[in-house]
Amino acid sequence: MTMTKEEALKTYFGYDAFRGGQAEIVDALLAGRDALAIMPTGAGKSICYQVPALVLPGITLVISPLVSLMRDQVTQLVQMGVPAAFLNSTLTYRQYLLALSRAKEGRYKIIYVAPERLETEGFQAFAREAEISLVAVDEAHCISQWGQDFRPSYLGIPAFVDALPRRPVLGAFTATATPEVRDDIQHLLALESPQVVTTGSDRENLYFEVRHPTDKRAELLELVESRRGKCGIVYCATRKTVEEVCSFLRERGVDATRYHAGLEPEERQKNQEDFLYDRTAVMVATNAFGMGIDKSDVRYVIHYNMPKDVESYYQEAGRAGRDGAPSSCILLFSGQDVRTAEFLIDHSEPREELDQRTAEQLRERDLQRLRRMTGYCRTRRCLRQYILGYFGEQAPDYCGACYNCIHNFEEVEVGPEARAIIRCVAETGEHFGVNVIAEALCGAQTEKVRKYHMDQERSYGTLEAFTQKEVQERIRFLLDEGILVLSPGQYPVLRLGGRAEAVMEGGVSLRMRTVKETRPALARRTTAAELDGPAAELFGRLRALRASLARRQGVPAYVVFTDKTLRELALARPATMAQFRAVSGVGTAKAERYGEAFLAEIAAFETPWGG
Ligand code: ADP
Ligand code: ZN
Repeated sequence: MTMTKEEALKTYFGYDAFRGGQAEIVDALLAGRDALAIMPTGAGKSICYQVPALVLPGITLVISPLVSLMRDQVTQLVQMGVPAAFLNSTLTYRQYLLALSRAKEGRYKIIYVAPERLETEGFQAFAREAEISLVAVDEAHCISQWGQDFRPSYLGIPAFVDALPRRPVLGAFTATATPEVRDDIQHLLALESPQVVTTGSDRENLYFEVRHPTDKRAELLELVESRRGKCGIVYCATRKTVEEVCSFLRERGVDATRYHAGLEPEERQKNQEDFLYDRTAVMVATNAFGMGIDKSDVRYVIHYNMPKDVESYYQEAGRAGRDGAPSSCILLFSGQDVRTAEFLIDHSEPREELDQRTAEQLRERDLQRLRRMTGYCRTRRCLRQYILGYFGEQAPDYCGACYNCIHNFEEVEVGPEARAIIRCVAETGEHFGVNVIAEALCGAQTEKVRKYHMDQERSYGTLEAFTQKEVQERIRFLLDEGILVLSPGQYPVLRLGGRAEAVMEGGVSLRMRTVKETRPALARRTTAAELDGPAAELFGRLRALRASLARRQGVPAYVVFTDKTLRELALARPATMAQFRAVSGVGTAKAERYGEAFLAEIAAFETPWGG
């Protein structure tokens, strides 16, 4: 009994049509051609290999690095009636053997496996006997040293595939990949003239902004309070910061919880569920939070610290607005973030599996990526264009939906101020940081200025006409231009850079972009309509029903139905099973399992007097 790809999509997933890019990938894999798909988060990568897995004979292996994601995906597949299993380190040895023997009996269509497993003799023996039609490599960027999560065990995939009696078709999947990473995936995985599909990484409904606040806490509180009742994630660089920020928000009456690897598993689980089940609005977390979480109505993601690279940033920020409704991604930047990130790169745990030369190369690449991330925080260009450009995509220089686009910039000549700043740094012996130099130039009478007798210097007060903020802005510009540099270490001081001398000699034009005035944001096309009136009320009731069904089975709510499906149910208000089946996201297994409960709830809503 074979079915078409459309039948598989409808029967199991409850969807009527493939989305952009999906059909191309599915067709290629079904025709026996390798494929490489680069699709942003939420575009629907998993369907690209799950549908072929259902149509092809035999077994599909999905290689995935994320243990939590595997469990989640398998739970979702089983709910849809797809026989699936996972093999990873969370299973005991006995559980593993049991799962493997069931796999040998041909009980599963889809098996998720961690890359390390491929190297074990037991698994290889199984794979030689089994009929493996498709190998799907999820998070394929992990194979590249240029990527953000290099996993040496991914390099073993081609050898594993070569050792199989018959070469299965290979599919590689990733959300974002720079051109170098793309090349690596293709070559290191040894894809054979693959069908490459790139749907573009742009997320139209996301707004981007970078702020340089002097008081991050106050800034964060204001951002969160102005979004009361909406749900959001606040990412921090360290566990300690998560603790501090979460306590601070709670003290100020914000409904917040926390997540990081230092918490007991029970608490982590509970906090995560509180957020998923909408019992808590704000999640304060390290980057340990979010993998495999498909909460679609996250309205904002605020980064309290700058992440280590643009890949991480876009992945984390991209957890906002999966449902397509307008959402904000705001980064709170400070120079200290750069130094923390440098420190983390220099002091990261040595990875045993890497030889020294590789480790050194990785460190160099980490630093390069950090510089590009810092560039994002300082650029005056369109932020969306900066990110897309980083991933090798063309984008117009005006998006109309980022801070830099909706603020007008003007170019001002800053040569004279640059010379005053350089003179001041040189005169005071390259001993002071940005703030003290700005204070001295503005003629401020602060404790430090007095303590170090900076008011005795010739340059004291020479930029009196400017505010300290304006002087700091100019110093930052000189740093970006490499005319000044910051010393490494905990208390960085300003030093003269290579071009300082040329600037002092004059004749160099230095034009800085600075904010002029605000224009209103352009309304960007968004895909999800907000619900109102009765539909909103019904949506709320369906959510409550979903929560109780999910709780009873011990699965997250979105495993039952996604928000998008609930929204469609609330709008369509099906009265019969056939109408229920027609709603996007309702497959055969789920209709059988949940149809009655949802139809009853909708009927009760239609006839509040009792029918
Ligand atoms: P990714 O892995 O690319 O982040 P997912 O595979 O998790 O994305 O898909 C994101 C969401 O979109 C899921 O809820 C999925 O069920 C839904 N989806 C995927 N393909 C389709 C489709 N063809 N029609 C409707 N919904 C889809
Ligand atoms: Zn823009």
